This record gives sequence, structure tokens and C-alpha cells, in this order.
Amino acid sequence: MRYRLTLLLAVLTVPVAAQRRQPAARGAAAITTEDVRRRIGIIAADSMLGRATPSPQLDQVAAYVAAEFRRFGLKPGGDSGTYLQRYPLEVQRFDPDSASIRIAGPMPTTWHTGQDVLLVDGQPPAGDSAGPGAVITGSPQGAAALDSSAVTGKVVFLAYGPGVNAVAVKILPLRPLALMLVADFPDSIWQKLPGHQASVHVRNPSEEGGSAIPAVFAVRARTARALFTQAGVPPDSLRLWGDRPLAAHPLAEVKVQLAVHQQLLERTSAPNVVGILEGTDAALKKEYVLFTAHMDHIGTPGAGEGCMARGADSICNGADDDGSGTVAVVALAEAFATALERPKRSLVFMTVSGEERGLWGSAYFAEHPTVPLASVVADLNSDMVGRNAKDTLAVIGREHSNLGGAVDSVARAHPELNIKPVGDLWPQEGLYYRSDHYNFAKKGVPILFFTTGLHPDYHQVSDSPDKIDAEKEARFARLVFYLGLAVANTTARPRWNPESYKQIVSGTN
Ligand SMILES: [Zn+2]
Repeated sequence: MRYRLTLLLAVLTVPVAAQRRQPAARGAAAITTEDVRRRIGIIAADSMLGRATPSPQLDQVAAYVAAEFRRFGLKPGGDSGTYLQRYPLEVQRFDPDSASIRIAGPMPTTWHTGQDVLLVDGQPPAGDSAGPGAVITGSPQGAAALDSSAVTGKVVFLAYGPGVNAVAVKILPLRPLALMLVADFPDSIWQKLPGHQASVHVRNPSEEGGSAIPAVFAVRARTARALFTQAGVPPDSLRLWGDRPLAAHPLAEVKVQLAVHQQLLERTSAPNVVGILEGTDAALKKEYVLFTAHMDHIGTPGAGEGCMARGADSICNGADDDGSGTVAVVALAEAFATALERPKRSLVFMTVSGEERGLWGSAYFAEHPTVPLASVVADLNSDMVGRNAKDTLAVIGREHSNLGGAVDSVARAHPELNIKPVGDLWPQEGLYYRSDHYNFAKKGVPILFFTTGLHPDYHQVSDSPDKIDAEKEARFARLVFYLGLAVANTTARPRWNPESYKQIVSGTN
């Protein structure tokens, strides 16, 4: 109640000179701290079991969002007159006993999965596949990127140790056939790694070009040593070398064959939720501003999405990731539906799933859009927007279009929100590629990606609702409301910077 009261006072004390803005202010005032807190409590409750893709709990959250969209009077934007768009998935069982890795070369050898090598993460490749080997060395620091031709389709060996995550983030998007983490794992660690037993994996058969995480195996240094010796690569080259730039060294004459046989357990599907608010301008209402966030999170340890139990807690609630963004999209839908004046362009509110598995829901929508993608003038994506400093918001991708300038001027025009848009505070993390907006950017839609950033609870059981700064998130959502309104009412569409367009859109088609 206290928060509602504060807001009410804020509305009542709007100065006379600002009265012209009142219709919009009424929309923004519909976004309240109390609603943000209440909805985070629903979406990230323990009973939602961390909303893995697919799961009954993910479907429950989708039904909740759809019911809210209906209550706000949005038009259904999903399949056949509903708010839901569903994409197909396959649930498969990977049995380590039925898979092997054959090293073909001058000294052929076979590694048995579950014994010599362990599948520790990612998606096992389907059936039989083979690729040349390569060794990655160097440090993730600096701007140096790997050449994709040195990685794509190859079986890439990388030393497991400090900095490995930062390197893996650069390697995995380049689609190696598999990533092999090599280390002198002591028995005590080796026994605790996943991959000794059968595991269940979710595959997205509609994925074009694929963005699921490639298979990540662990292999002991003593097992891999012979391979490096026969390839003439000194064992030292496996180390991440201090300040040297990242480099890929081909293992000449070595071919790695993966034989993986998975059992199809179930064909199923997962939801996106889509609601549309029609614009008022006869011409511009055929164009759309898209607001996105992802409903799914990484579930519980059994979901195979990387959730790890801590003590008695085995639920990765994903309150910030991305319960917060989901709640922001719902709050924005309510705000625009409540505002006295509707914008000229139409608005699409979409909460997707499968983000944590590989941006699946947004990829499916980008391939099977329910409104013409060429008519989507912008995507404003919110992922992890409820934490960290009170006044700071990272705006990723701001340098790529004039939307970056637009968010700055909206923030300047609304000092009462006390939100300072800044650039990417985590450049080494490659955030631009790590949320749903990227699927739209690749297709030529100008985007902004909002995040309040990473924190120690990221992908942990401790990303819980009590840690969300609902007051900050409400101010953030009001900022996106005013920005969305400006984009929807400005006759000229947002424009890419030509260099960025060349790099992100032309480069990926
Ligand atoms: Zn996440």
C-alpha cells in the first residue's frame, strides 16, 4: 500500500506545465513497485520450479501472462487466434554407454564416454559426426576474436582452468562440433562431474543454423596426451597463455569421430506468449514496436540446463533472470493498455521461452513471425532488470542505431525516474549475443537490450524474488514505457548505423 500511496502523490503533484504529458504519465503511473513485486513473487515462486524449457511450470507461467494480456484487452498474437505460439521440441535420452569418440589418425584410439570422456554440458550431436581437431590457446582478454573458420565444425580442445568460461563464451557461438575441456582432473573432482550416468536432453528440431550450446566434454589430460603427442603439438600449448591473443592450432592429420546414439523419449513443445495493442494511425499501425523478455529459466538440476543445488535448495528461481524482464513486459502491456492515448504504431508484447537453452523461442518467432518482421521497427528486450545500483541501466547495442540516442533523451526528459543509461559494463561477456534481441537484430530489426547486469546470484539457486529491487525495476519499466511511446509515435523508423548494419545484419545472412 505504501508504494501505491507514494505514486498517487507523485501523480497529484504533476506541475501545470507538464499537464500536456498527462495521458502518457497515466500510462507510466500504472507501473507500480507493488505490482512488480507481486508478479515476480508469482513467476519466480518455488512452485514454478525454475521454469525449465519445456515444463508444466513454464506452461503455467505462459498461461498467467496470456490471462493478463487478455485482461488488458490485447489482441491475441499467437497461433490460430490464441495468445500462445508453440514450437516443437524433442526430449532425448543420452546414454554414455552407447557413445564413443574415435580419434582417427596415425595412432587411432577410442575413448568411451562415461569413462574416458564425460559429457558435462551442451547438446550431444545427433548420430555420427566427425571433424578435424584444433587446440585453443591464449587469453580471453583484449578484443582479439577467433576466426570462425578455425573453430566451426571442429572438435576444439581447451584447457580447463581459470578463465575457461570467458574463452568458452567466445568459442561456443562459433559452433564447434564439440568442445573438449582438458585438465588433470583429480579423481575426487572427476567422480563429481556430470556425464557418468544417462542424461536427458531437449533438442529443438526447428532450429535453423542452430543456437543450442554444442556438446561440452571433459577429458583427462593423461587420456588426451597421446593425441597431442601424435599430432606434434607440445602439451604446453594447451595452457591459456598469459597475455597472448586467442589462437586456434589445427591438429593436423587428426580427425575426431563422434558416435552418439540418443533415444527419443517424447515429442513436445514450448510456448511464446504474444499480445498486440493496435496503433491509431491508419498507416503506422501496420508497423510494430516489439517488447520482449524470456519467461523460462534453468529449472532444477534434473533439467540439464546447469542449475546446481546448494544445501537444501535445488530450485533456480530465476527471479532476475528473467522473471524481472517478464514482469516488465507484462507491466508495459498494462501501462499502454491503460494510457488514455494509444500510440500511432501497433505494439507487440512477447514473452518467449527456450532462451536459456539457446534463444529458441525468439529464433522460432523470427523464423515464423505472426506479424511481418519487416514491419517491426524496433525490439526493446529486457533481460535481468531488477538488480544492482539504484540508478544505473546498461543499454547493450546502443552504439548500433539511433535508438541509443533516443533512450538518452527519454532519460533526460524524465529526471524523476533517476535512471542513467550507460553502455556495456561487461564487454568481455559478449552480452550482445546472449539474449533474444539478437535473433531480431540478425534479421535487420534495430534493437536495444536492457539489463541491470550480472551479479553473484546469476544462474544460482539464490536468484530469488526477495533480492529484486522492485522499486528500481518499476522506474526502469516507466523509462521503457516513455521510450516505446516515443518510438511508436515518431514517423521515421529507427535507423541502424551503416557500419553496424554491415557487421551484424549483412554479415550473418
Ligand atoms: Zn540466464
